[in-house]
Amino acid sequence: MSRSDTVLVSLMKRRFALSIDLDPLSCYRNIYALPQGLQTERENDPVYTKAIPRFCELCDSLGIKGTLFIVGESLDQPNSVQSASQAAEAGHELANHTHNHHYDLSKTAKEEQITLCSDAIEKACGIRPVGFRAPGYLLGSSLLPLLPAEGFRYDSSVLPSPAYQGLKASVLTLMRLLGRPSASILGDPREALVPSVPYRPHPHRPWRRGMSSLVELPISAPLGLPLTGGLLALGGRPLSKVLAARLASAEWVQLELHGVDLLDLVSDGLDPALGAERSLRIDWRKKMGLYRAFIEKVIEGREVPRLCDVKL
Ligand SMILES: [Zn+2]
Repeated sequence: MSRSDTVLVSLMKRRFALSIDLDPLSCYRNIYALPQGLQTERENDPVYTKAIPRFCELCDSLGIKGTLFIVGESLDQPNSVQSASQAAEAGHELANHTHNHHYDLSKTAKEEQITLCSDAIEKACGIRPVGFRAPGYLLGSSLLPLLPAEGFRYDSSVLPSPAYQGLKASVLTLMRLLGRPSASILGDPREALVPSVPYRPHPHRPWRRGMSSLVELPISAPLGLPLTGGLLALGGRPLSKVLAARLASAEWVQLELHGVDLLDLVSDGLDPALGAERSLRIDWRKKMGLYRAFIEKVIEGREVPRLCDVKL
């Protein structure tokens, strides 16, 4: 980096945000075409009862606050309500990840999926969310226009990673050929060609800048790779170091975890079939150590807002 670039970067407001999508284990069963689990898995879903406290512990150890994207139907269970409420009381943000996490929401645009989730969060924790994330990193042309009327100030669904969309297309095709069709879907490929910094989107073409009253807060994709807990877990320290170096001068960085990124099959006694999600095969303590080391490096010299605190 040249001296003038260094000065420019130091003058910019560089920010890092940490979010976690709390997709229940039933979502992974739908993605990998596995049979649904036992009732006890739903009543005591470790994504809520274990991963949320671990996420709070991770944030505490770094002195930061994060954003939790809640799937509304999970709050039917008292244990899940307790974990989510404790996270909110600790100062973390609760945001809307739809009521049932239907992977085709970008096509159906069912408004009730958004309203029901906000209602569930408000009923359980007394907070009406102002942030939204669609399932599967897909908005389509009809979801964004629904959000302002529901009181949302930002959306954080987009992932500027054509590589991810390409890999997803290959996997979905393979699963269909094997006779095990996934619940996951493909969207408009232009949705992978979005800005990598916060922007005001076009309501019907979210990949473009426009005049929406919402702010769009992309998940980061250094080197075109989705900056997710799964990537850091599977890539280990060598990849983490490369990505942290790559992001050193980035104006905006958002790391997206999922609940399963803070769980593992053995320690948490999960159904071995869920090992189809490869990061579940790695000890959660090891994964948490990787995330902590990565975040420690990336937050140097940065503000660390919750997503609801980000202004353009
Ligand atoms: Zn999700």
